[in-house]
Amino acid sequence: MERTFLMVKPDGVQRGLIGEVITRFERRGFKMVASRFERLPDARVMEHYAEHVQKPFFPGLKAYITSGPCFMMVWEGKDIVKISRDMIGATNPAGAAPGTIRGDFALEIGMNVIHGSDSVETANREIAIHFKPEELVSYTRIDEQYLYE
Ligand code: UDP
Repeated sequence: MERTFLMVKPDGVQRGLIGEVITRFERRGFKMVASRFERLPDARVMEHYAEHVQKPFFPGLKAYITSGPCFMMVWEGKDIVKISRDMIGATNPAGAAPGTIRGDFALEIGMNVIHGSDSVETANREIAIHFKPEELVSYTRIDEQYLYE
């Protein structure tokens, strides 16, 4: 089953949106298989945002993402990478559709509440950066027989 890495960023944590984010993914039918609440160490920020390290916005991004704790998660379900990106909305909240997490809760391109992997390949890379394999819990949700045909 497909997995993705989701992270409620410091603004989402401070604004009390952890529960809201979890509820949206739970109700869609997705299954949380790992989580951790922590302030990201610098080394992991560099690894996670390796593609952005040289970009002009990186110093601001690093300061923001280390400004407080994040809620890190791995979620599982059919087509979760594409569906979760749709649920999260566009990077710039000005273009994020209402009904998406960013479209409902964010205004700025930097402080946009949540991170979600943008491809299956990225998801596998990000899960490996933030979690050890033994931290991923395998179990069956009782409603799976009414979610999957
Ligand atoms: N970001 C920023 N300024 C920009 C572009 C991105 O501060 O001009 C931040 C923003 O928090 C974004 C993150 O860097 O979520 C990663 O950017 P990416 O393009 O990967 O967007 P995402 O996958 O989060 O939608």
